[in-house]
Amino acid sequence: MAEPIATDPRRAVPPTDALLANPRLAEPQQRLGRALVRSAVRQAQQLVRTGALDPAEVVDAVLRSLPGQATSLTPVINATGVVLHTNLGRAPLSAAARDALVAAAGYVDVEFDLETGARARRGRGTLQALRDALPDAGDVFVVNNGAAALLLATTVLSQGKRVIWSRGEMVEIGDGFRLPDLVESTGALIREVGTTNRTTLDDYRSALRGDAGCILKVHPSNFRVSGFSASVPVRELAGLGVPVVVDVGSGLLRPDPLLPGELDITTALRDGADLVTASGDKLLGGPQAGIIAGSAELVTRLRRHPMARALRVDKLTLAALEATLIGPRPPAATALAADVETLRDRCAAIAAALGAIAEVTPSDGAAGGGSAPELPLPGWAVSLPERFAAQLRTHRPPVVGRVERGVCLLDLRCVPSEQDTTIIEAVRACT
Ligand SMILES: *Cc1c(COP(=O)(O)O)cnc(C)c1O
Repeated sequence: MAEPIATDPRRAVPPTDALLANPRLAEPQQRLGRALVRSAVRQAQQLVRTGALDPAEVVDAVLRSLPGQATSLTPVINATGVVLHTNLGRAPLSAAARDALVAAAGYVDVEFDLETGARARRGRGTLQALRDALPDAGDVFVVNNGAAALLLATTVLSQGKRVIWSRGEMVEIGDGFRLPDLVESTGALIREVGTTNRTTLDDYRSALRGDAGCILKVHPSNFRVSGFSASVPVRELAGLGVPVVVDVGSGLLRPDPLLPGELDITTALRDGADLVTASGDKLLGGPQAGIIAGSAELVTRLRRHPMARALRVDKLTLAALEATLIGPRPPAATALAADVETLRDRCAAIAAALGAIAEVTPSDGAAGGGSAPELPLPGWAVSLPERFAAQLRTHRPPVVGRVERGVCLLDLRCVPSEQDTTIIEAVRACT
């Protein structure tokens, strides 16, 4: 009779308690928590049951499968060439902003004056940094995201009144998120003016009779209207006697020669906008946040509205935003301005290391995040057979490329050069 115990994989599965008591799993349990390690243990035990894992290797397999942090969010290498990729968390933070996040993670003087021991204004350092960055603003405020900034502005100015808004600027940002739905949710009534392609100053003028709360101008951030079209610049709306709110979207502080046609906050203020709203994690390159800048009187009204409390940012956002404003150039700006020759040299070095499966090919990146639509960012990519796309995505760390015309492109625009060797190793592991 054959001895069944040694050959039946179920019998050989090491018990959970014994594994959790293994000294090599003590440190991970301290760092990541017992639940995460236990779930990795269960998965490894299951592999032993199916015969896919040798019982002697269970602890090694558990250690290999444990995540680096106690979060299911997995850091990825963005080789898509899209700088502000909404699915990949939009703007990556600078090292300065990451350090600031960590510093603010514990107890911190977010609403406390260390000199006097009294309560202090929340986020005062961040607000000062934003004021310094936007000298044309009477005052500034920060909320959770761009949508929250617009929500607060239209609530304060137009609840129960009308928002005067051009038909050509009633936009959907993405994933079914439509700005008119957001504005109507505040109890404001939308008064549409003009047509899809043309809106004139007279259209606005004739809509102003009655209960106009504000004029809303939305930068068409993710599409372009061309051909027989007309819209009214902020500068002409500013004289109509009703507050003008401009949603610039991208959060660009000043005009950027690399991004012609992208409206910035300073220009909107100089043109006479009473309030400007924008995102913190688009072209500004910081954490998710909603930037509000404008007349001191209106910003104070927004800040004092009860809704502001529900939209307020946490200390981590305040820390990362301040570091983005006063610190070194954020990675998104570096990626947008990446040197084409350097990108090609890096692709050539990676392709040379990988051999016959890889080629170097021109690749147009994009700003993404609903910024600078149709503006191609010429660059280079390493081209691999299409099947690599899925394999690289599930590799650790995941490398997310772009599938185009039946090949997998790894565009290096958003990849820090020190990660080139990680990419080479990832592709080799998938070969
Ligand atoms: C992105 C965008 C928003 C929404 O901003 P979030 O920070 O994503 O909430 C609103 N308006 C415009 C014009 C945008 O481009």
